[in-house]
Amino acid sequence: MNEIERKDKQYVWHPFTQMKGWLDNPQTVIADAQGIKLVDTDGREYYDAVSSLWVNIHGHRRPEIDQAIIDQLGRVAHSTALGLANIPAAEYAEQLVRVAPEGLTKVFYSDDGSTAVEVAIKMAFQYWQHKGRAAKKRFVALEQAYHGDTVGTVSVGGIDLFHRVFKPLLFEPFHIPSPSCYHCRLAENPQTCGLACAQALEALLAEHHEEIAALVIEPLVQAAAGMLMSPPGYLAKVREFTQKYEVLLIADEVATGFGRTGKLFACENEGVSPDLMCLSKGITGGYLPLAATLTTDEIYQAFLGDMAEKRTFYHGHSYTANQLGCAAALASLKIFADEQVIAGLEPKMAAISTKLAKLRKQEHVGDARQCGMIAGIELMQDKENKIPYPWDQTTGAKVCMKAREYGIFIRPVGDVVVFMPPLCSTVAEIEHMLEMVYRSIDEVTSQGKTAASGGGAHF
Ligand code: PMP
Repeated sequence: MNEIERKDKQYVWHPFTQMKGWLDNPQTVIADAQGIKLVDTDGREYYDAVSSLWVNIHGHRRPEIDQAIIDQLGRVAHSTALGLANIPAAEYAEQLVRVAPEGLTKVFYSDDGSTAVEVAIKMAFQYWQHKGRAAKKRFVALEQAYHGDTVGTVSVGGIDLFHRVFKPLLFEPFHIPSPSCYHCRLAENPQTCGLACAQALEALLAEHHEEIAALVIEPLVQAAAGMLMSPPGYLAKVREFTQKYEVLLIADEVATGFGRTGKLFACENEGVSPDLMCLSKGITGGYLPLAATLTTDEIYQAFLGDMAEKRTFYHGHSYTANQLGCAAALASLKIFADEQVIAGLEPKMAAISTKLAKLRKQEHVGDARQCGMIAGIELMQDKENKIPYPWDQTTGAKVCMKAREYGIFIRPVGDVVVFMPPLCSTVAEIEHMLEMVYRSIDEVTSQGKTAASGGGAHF
């Protein structure tokens, strides 16, 4: 164990981590990075195939982003947004509004995905108070949702393993079914069900809309649930019904924003403009913690008034509108434009699709789904009968540890192996990474049987 690993184990408590297991096992210490690869203290390289938990977009040590931060450091690193404006925050807000779905005209900054959603929840709630509709206090959330770890965002979450222990602290939303065809309990056939999941939403809104402030959704992909992907048309229906029943739509694009779904924002795939949109993760290209909650003029106007009217939005953070973060965000957006990043995704998404078709044939791959540059590979003990592995066998984690031996860093969500590489990955790199994923799955789930019979060799 090197000195840094020893210090880490003595002093650091890691997120979402059973520290007993962490302490009992050797750990990788990252010292360096270049492009889409991370380098550990022993000089070993790993593809960063989950974009450092879905944040990295243009690769590590991008000269343009590095330089933007250095330039900003030469001016000022941070000054408060309470009572002061600053240059990169104003510039970035203008540019963000320009590329955001139509109607989103105001930017409220915060620090991370959780706070971006927390802000949206509080704004939606307060909006209806100002509109004289005080009964509209409740929220609709999807089963299996993940919107962050603050108490408000855990309240609209639905991942039992993470959220159950906090239940006594939480407010109670209405939950609607997760729109994932592979896991659907509402209908047999996704081709003929007529979006039974969306119908369930309409039934709920028809009955309860008078008491509902907003619906919060991860558009197209419920990421932390295991990359659950909604069928085409679902999001558009959600927009239609929320509009019809006067319920605000909060799009949590923390994971899906900035190109992951093949468009700059997932909402664009179905021509949807939400009332509030939450961004973080990829906003700075994966460099610095920054977040933004975008909203409409209609919502913004409802908060305007004299002090005595008490319409102020009393929410903010020490690092709100941080200059370094906004400078990085400006540089990242410039790369999107200069390099036509979105237009360049087509062959990369096709490469993922081709490789997933092969993965799908593996004996223990139940489903291999894709939305743009996001893939989720769901392992099953019994694929035919959709019987998962016992969760405490941690099969997904074993696959990811095996992958690390091959030189690729991936993280599972339960037994769903997540593949979410930086957008700058080349077709050849994507193919190489997914070959490593294939072999790792093969080794762990079939003890190499498929490879021995030729499956691995021909991949
Ligand atoms: N919303 C979504 C959709 C997320 O995936 C996440 C993080 N995985 C969050 C919110 C919370 O973001 P953060 O971890 O930056 O607080």
